[in-house]
Amino acid sequence: MPTDPADGAVFVHHIDEPALGPVVVGEEQIRDRIATLGDEITRDYQGRAPLLICVLKGAFVFMADLARAIRLPLEVDFMAVSSYGASTKSSGVVRIVKDLDIDLTGRHVILVEDIVDSGLTLTYLRRNLAARQPASLDVCALFVRQGNQKTQEELRYVGFEIPPAFVLGYGLDVGERFRNLPYVCEFQGPA
Ligand code: 5GP
Repeated sequence: MPTDPADGAVFVHHIDEPALGPVVVGEEQIRDRIATLGDEITRDYQGRAPLLICVLKGAFVFMADLARAIRLPLEVDFMAVSSYGASTKSSGVVRIVKDLDIDLTGRHVILVEDIVDSGLTLTYLRRNLAARQPASLDVCALFVRQGNQKTQEELRYVGFEIPPAFVLGYGLDVGERFRNLPYVCEFQGPA
């Protein structure tokens, strides 16, 4: 099993693959941070049953762990979006591929995102969800890429700010692969 590389020991990746670069956030760090986020949400949402919305596919691992760190009655729903084009850069033009099953009217919604880069996807999603008349709408993003945001979105809960490199693992893919890594590392392409 890989360990966090904090002690300078040689790090052995979970998968033998040259595209995997240095670890950005280790398994234990992710676990600890999610426990803290779960505590904060549990405290902030006392007396309310939040509805967690997972943006597929990248946020599915985070959402599964976050939901179990929140000690409140809650519900979950899923939506899938795709950016137009196959580029690794977001255009902000988003298409809903799978919509929610649950009506948001009067609900306390927490939008669970994997990573906020330009923020354009989030801006689109927030506007789309807000139009459905929820009682409240907060965002919980596991990662925010430092200094890249083109929009000023309020992010109530953030896991980690990470440096500019493109990352994979813990739900994040490159060409649909590597979502099963239990930690997040840099992509050293080509995969
Ligand atoms: P934004 O619209 O904020 O520029 O981009 C957000 C979306 O782009 C994320 O939800 C994610 O799907 C994708 N994305 C942004 N940065 C990364 C990254 O470093 N790795 C991976 N795998 N996806 C990313």
